[in-house]
Amino acid sequence: MNRWTQVDPLMVNQGEKVLHTLLERGFQAFFVGGCVRDELMGRPVHDMDIATSAKPEDVIAIFERTVPTGIEHGTVTVLMDAYAFEVTTFRKESQYEDHRRPTSVEFVDAVAEDLLRRDFTMNAIARDIHGALIDPYGGQGDIKRGLIRCVGAAEERFEEDALRMLRAVRFASVFGFRPAKSLWRALLRVKDKLTYIAMERVRAELEKVVLGPRPLRGLALLERSGLLRHVKAALPEAVAGDAEPARLTRQLLAAEPRRELLAALAELPAEPQALRWSLLLQALGTAGEDVIPLMKGWTFPNKAAEETAAIVRFDEAWARAEAEESDEAPLRRRWVVLQVTLGQAASAFWLRRQAAVLAAASLPEAQRITERERLALARRWHGEVRVHALSELAISGKDVLELAGKKGGPWLGELMKRLLISVAAGEIHNDKQALLNYVKAGLSEAWKQTD
Ligand code: ATP
Ligand code: MG
Repeated sequence: MNRWTQVDPLMVNQGEKVLHTLLERGFQAFFVGGCVRDELMGRPVHDMDIATSAKPEDVIAIFERTVPTGIEHGTVTVLMDAYAFEVTTFRKESQYEDHRRPTSVEFVDAVAEDLLRRDFTMNAIARDIHGALIDPYGGQGDIKRGLIRCVGAAEERFEEDALRMLRAVRFASVFGFRPAKSLWRALLRVKDKLTYIAMERVRAELEKVVLGPRPLRGLALLERSGLLRHVKAALPEAVAGDAEPARLTRQLLAAEPRRELLAALAELPAEPQALRWSLLLQALGTAGEDVIPLMKGWTFPNKAAEETAAIVRFDEAWARAEAEESDEAPLRRRWVVLQVTLGQAASAFWLRRQAAVLAAASLPEAQRITERERLALARRWHGEVRVHALSELAISGKDVLELAGKKGGPWLGELMKRLLISVAAGEIHNDKQALLNYVKAGLSEAWKQTD
């Protein structure tokens, strides 16, 4: 018997229990899809999907704990111990509308027919409880050759569900595989159908490319195919250019500095994702102010969009500061102002990103040393900033109002921010009396000026 080597043995145990229970009742049951593929490729398997001849109502009746997760597509989640298995009835899909997921499914009797509806040969292999493989479309051979090939005629399969084109690019990128020639030709012919796919699904695939182990491979395929010209969400001016939205893809890998920036992508951790996105967007020429609208249009969660924008803004502002100041003291103050204004996270992320950019850059040795020293200095400044929020100050706005004996207004916010930066820069101690003295001096100065 062939053992699973890429799966948590406890999960295998429970999964086999599900199969066994179904077989005992006279149904057919197999492991299918990503888990079989990943096991064959020696990649870690995180979940195991099961296909069966049992109908959803049978599955619900047989197992104690079930969730009807996708009952209209024949999927029931079976909970076993601490594990969850998606159990899907053998089916074929029909009536694709608008080049998207099918509107209706039809249950079928044989696993081979179920495999026929799957997208790529490597994803259309079933594995029985003894480890024997059912591989009617040559998935194992394609995995060995590193080839992404559609089950059936590629053009038809892409016409049915246009997302498959992006999935092909994603798998090629993540696995380092090649798209089959026939697949690529079909993709070029029908790529405009991607317009029908919801942005969430497009974004999910793109995320796997950008955050995966070979982002440049996927980006190069996207550029070559021009697929991204056909997505729903408009690209903002900064990226798209006035002429046509194609600039996003054509710009990729075009100029040298961009190539260097992009080369750093794979050096960066995938989490938090703002690290890689900020680099990619900047390499494409996106300005800080355009990041949030762009990412929201692409259905990114606010947090990811905001974190990404903060890193880009930090980078832009810091590049300005370095161009304008050469002395250490004023430069350090600029750093502190930036860190307090854009946040500690943004400056920490920027430092991490910059280390990767430096590592990937091809610089003359002398310049590399200088750049490293600058980065080390910035890192030290980053660590020296102890306060980032008004709430961390030893005095409050109320204390200042009492001292001033005048009504609050915009002046108060300004003054508090000045206090925060002075404390953050280490110019005043974060001590109540010291702060009050500073405020007093500042106020009498201001009164003098208004007299
Ligand atoms: P991963 O989970 O690693 O991203 P996966 O292959 O498991 O990859 P899923 O989206 O989990 O991808 O889908 C599970 C299986 O369902 C696939 O292996 C494939 O057989 C089938 N499948 C998924 N999406 C499609 C699609 N758009 N068209 C046809 N078959 C699909
Ligand atoms: Mg999966």
